[in-house]
Amino acid sequence: MLGRGLLLDRDGVVNHDTAYVGFREQFQFIDGIFDFLRAAQDVGYRLAILTNQAGVGRGKYTAEDYYKLTEWMLREFSAQHVNVELVLGCFEHPDAVLPEYKRESYWRKPNPGMVLEAIQKLRLNPSRSVFIGDQLRDLEAAAAGGVAHRLLLSDTLTPAAGMVRIASYAEAKVFLHKISTA
Ligand SMILES: [Mg+2]
Repeated sequence: MLGRGLLLDRDGVVNHDTAYVGFREQFQFIDGIFDFLRAAQDVGYRLAILTNQAGVGRGKYTAEDYYKLTEWMLREFSAQHVNVELVLGCFEHPDAVLPEYKRESYWRKPNPGMVLEAIQKLRLNPSRSVFIGDQLRDLEAAAAGGVAHRLLLSDTLTPAAGMVRIASYAEAKVFLHKISTA
């Protein structure tokens, strides 16, 4: 049977978005994320992080910096008993300064490439899966990939049709509990 996935944007969802976070000194986990993800995996959600990383294409940090930071982040998750199974990053951007990354990409949200990749790799049922983003483009990508439940973590943005706004991980936990027991 296909599983349930909890797909997360990174900057602004896992960690505070202080613009072009490329190094661990800049990486600060958002309050409540570990507790929330443990609760999600305990009821059977498989976890993945899907992140636009135009900072690589823009030369703010290198792909190697990004992978190092990702390894460190995964160790921090493990230490908190959170098993993130997949992390996908898109380095391309149409305005990238590095020529090898200067292009449109099907992986770059709001395009659904990373969402579809995660669904396939983790064998997820999108109609039972959840995406949490802090930008409308995250949830546009999720919708284009068929992900049924789309949460906008923001206290400033107005959710578009089909999105549910949440202000904290305590609220996300309530939402998840509701759809998991429905
Ligand atoms: Mg974000």
